[in-house]
Amino acid sequence: MLYRALPEFDFVEPASLEEAGEALASSPNAAVMAGGISLLDAMKRGMAQPPTTIVSLKRIPGLRYIEGSRAGGMRIGPLTTIRDAELSETVKNEYPLLHDALSNIHSVQVKTMGTVLGNVCVGTPASDILTALVALDADLRLAGRDGDALLPAASLCQAAKRTCLAPTDIVEAIEIPALPERCCSAYCNLTRTLPDISKLTVAVNLFMDGAGCRDARIAIGAAAPVIYRARAAEDALKGVALSAESIAASAEAAYNDPMTKPITDMRSTGEYRKEMVRVLVRRALEAAAAKAAKA
Ligand SMILES: Cc1cc2nc3c(=O)[nH]c(=O)nc-3n(C[C@H](O)[C@H](O)[C@H](O)COP(=O)(O)OP(=O)(O)OC[C@H]3O[C@@H](n4cnc5c(N)ncnc54)[C@H](O)[C@@H]3O)c2cc1C
Repeated sequence: MLYRALPEFDFVEPASLEEAGEALASSPNAAVMAGGISLLDAMKRGMAQPPTTIVSLKRIPGLRYIEGSRAGGMRIGPLTTIRDAELSETVKNEYPLLHDALSNIHSVQVKTMGTVLGNVCVGTPASDILTALVALDADLRLAGRDGDALLPAASLCQAAKRTCLAPTDIVEAIEIPALPERCCSAYCNLTRTLPDISKLTVAVNLFMDGAGCRDARIAIGAAAPVIYRARAAEDALKGVALSAESIAASAEAAYNDPMTKPITDMRSTGEYRKEMVRVLVRRALEAAAAKAAKA
């Protein structure tokens, strides 16, 4: 891939989210920027309609935070870097599923510059972070909206790297709901080499009730144009004990899910990815079940 120089653009640094919204609304072809890694990279690679105005959030105070708890829900601000979140004790201890997904991103440079929200808003189906957020049933809070301000993370993407966000939309926070005590999770992914983007991601979140599973969320990434919940695989676990049989049935249902249609690309063949959906869902469920047995 030949890298080109960046096309020319105006650079705006508003002092508040309101000003940022106004700047986006007043420029016909503007884009919001957080860390700039994905946006500037896409522009250098010759994106079809590069923005002529970039609205940077960097100078807006108070947007770099992680607040809340497992008992009451957690909020992550739009300038919170991946490294901030990875090193956060709250994320590590109270939302280990998200921590495991963040830790799977191996480039410290990328994690130091790149934001959690920037990663999510790219809309790639291989996002480790978005896979975890879908299994956590997270929402994205849109700035400047009175009504429909909450967008489920699971509904963000319409196709690979195409989100339903309007060019004027700014996500002002990720909101992750509270988790009950007996909730066990696991994250699994496959990569060619550790620094590479995942070729398959699976996040599971199990809500236990006695020895059985009351409810389950299974999110799969890089096996379809968008990250999806494997509903039949989830249903296979509801109201049953976690056993080798129920886990195998759930993994088989994920493999057979009509959404499971991975592509062949430079990272993997579609056939291999599909086979590995079954394997990764089983591994993730076994890991979560082992935690549930100890809890
Ligand atoms: C070498 C390398 C390795 C990587 N490895 C991984 C990996 O293993 N796993 C993984 O998941 N990712 C990986 N990534 C992706 C990386 O995590 C993202 O590029 C980064 O997090 C993007 O964040 P940013 O803050 O730089 O976003 P930006 O480039 O600033 O923005 C990205 C997009 O999101 C939009 N946007 C940003 N913030 C907002 C907001 N608040 N509201 C609305 N829209 C917004 C922008 O307009 C743009 O379209 C890798 C990237 C690189 C370059």
